[in-house]
Amino acid sequence: MNSPIKVLEIKPETPTKILVEEIEEIKKQEKIDTFEKITYFEKFEKAMELGYYLNNTGLYNKLIFLRVEANMKDQKLDLENIVNLKKKGDEPATAKNKVVKPYYKKIDERDTTLIFESRFESGNLLAAYKISEHNYQLVVQNDTNTNGYSQWFFFRVSGGRKGANVHFNLINLMKGYSLFNRGMQICVYSEKNAEQEKIGWHKGGNEINYYRNGIFKYVRDQKRYLSSLSFTYEFEYDNDTVYFANSIPYTYTDIFKELNEIQKNDKLSSLVHRKILCTTLAGNNLDYITLTNPDTSSRYDKEAFNNKIGIVIMARVHPGETVGSYMMKGIIDFLCSNTDEANLLRNNCVFKIIPMMNPDGVVCGNYRTSLVGCDLNRRWINPNEILHPEIYAAKQMILKFSTQRQLGLILDLHGHSGANNIFTYGNPIKENPKESKIFPILLSKMSDAFNYDQCKFKLNKNKYGTARINLFHELAIANIFTIEASFYGVKREVKL
Ligand SMILES: [Zn+2]
Repeated sequence: MNSPIKVLEIKPETPTKILVEEIEEIKKQEKIDTFEKITYFEKFEKAMELGYYLNNTGLYNKLIFLRVEANMKDQKLDLENIVNLKKKGDEPATAKNKVVKPYYKKIDERDTTLIFESRFESGNLLAAYKISEHNYQLVVQNDTNTNGYSQWFFFRVSGGRKGANVHFNLINLMKGYSLFNRGMQICVYSEKNAEQEKIGWHKGGNEINYYRNGIFKYVRDQKRYLSSLSFTYEFEYDNDTVYFANSIPYTYTDIFKELNEIQKNDKLSSLVHRKILCTTLAGNNLDYITLTNPDTSSRYDKEAFNNKIGIVIMARVHPGETVGSYMMKGIIDFLCSNTDEANLLRNNCVFKIIPMMNPDGVVCGNYRTSLVGCDLNRRWINPNEILHPEIYAAKQMILKFSTQRQLGLILDLHGHSGANNIFTYGNPIKENPKESKIFPILLSKMSDAFNYDQCKFKLNKNKYGTARINLFHELAIANIFTIEASFYGVKREVKL
């Protein structure tokens, strides 16, 4: 504590510069007056806590990766690649094809320093410090335009040597608890492993610990203590590139490709219609699909078609909850299949599916929020057309759909960072409490992964802005659920 704390000055123009300029332009045109309430330039904490912490360890440390500076040097490229994918043409950038200049250059061949990178879709490592030969401290980025929500992580390292056991310590995570303390492992993807053994993303890492680390920062004047996730990884190959993530990534590129495949499939072209719901603030398309068996236009069929029940399913309003996308993928694949059950459902229902509600958040590597730093699943009561276009457009679509046909079910797919299994949050129906419990009970009968005991049916005031409660208030239908799937997996004995 005697030595003065060296504070890292991080005051660059952030990758959201264009967004800020656009918003200034909108302000000038007086389209909206609520912008004052949002602080735009608090994206990167001053790293004061970090400098304090590292100084107090008394250990030698060397900054070997800093995403912000790299962005400054190369801002235009990063803006187009990281934020505004649409302008790059049809194929968005991916983790694989993005070529960037490494922040750290090895001194010579004996230098074993790992090369860190996160300037790719959904990547979010902000800084990496080398503490000792095989020991690194890592800092992840806050969600864009916020001073927090740092929980998701996705980065890659290259230059590891076979047999090297490297210790990683992510030091600025927000949550006080984690499934990492209950046996969950790190998601790992080794390029060499994938190439030679055909093993893709898998769970790995050893000596995994999650704990409050004594570092704090202020969020809205409240002192918030941060947590560390530490783990070791033993490199299996020389010259490998290994990706690490909080849960298996599912990017905007992934859903883009998925929907393209469906569109290209002749057998599905009469069942699935893809449309753009709106354009996000970063200029990405918010896609949705309508899925049903077609009206064959005989009189009888026309009547049956008009009587079909409407079902809405959406996912990834919270970008870090990638498990939601894997549930969504299962649903889409099943509904597109030629099984009797899927055919029966398509005969009797019209599905409106929004597979990725928050593309900007996913692209930027956010955990919880959109590009303007909003938790979009608290904005359903009165979404703003400019600030929350995703929710505004989705709500309009759903309300219109409800006037066209009877809505039978609305599902909003999420991931849960603290509980095991799959379960739902539903709404209580005073007159007939059983009414909203039937669907979860049926799910529990059909799948061992679904645990009815963890389901809740409450109208919490602080959740009135969620899709589940707001659409319940607006539409008064029983079957509206948030589906929560564990980041970890199925373990029946664990209850909330
Ligand atoms: Zn969520």
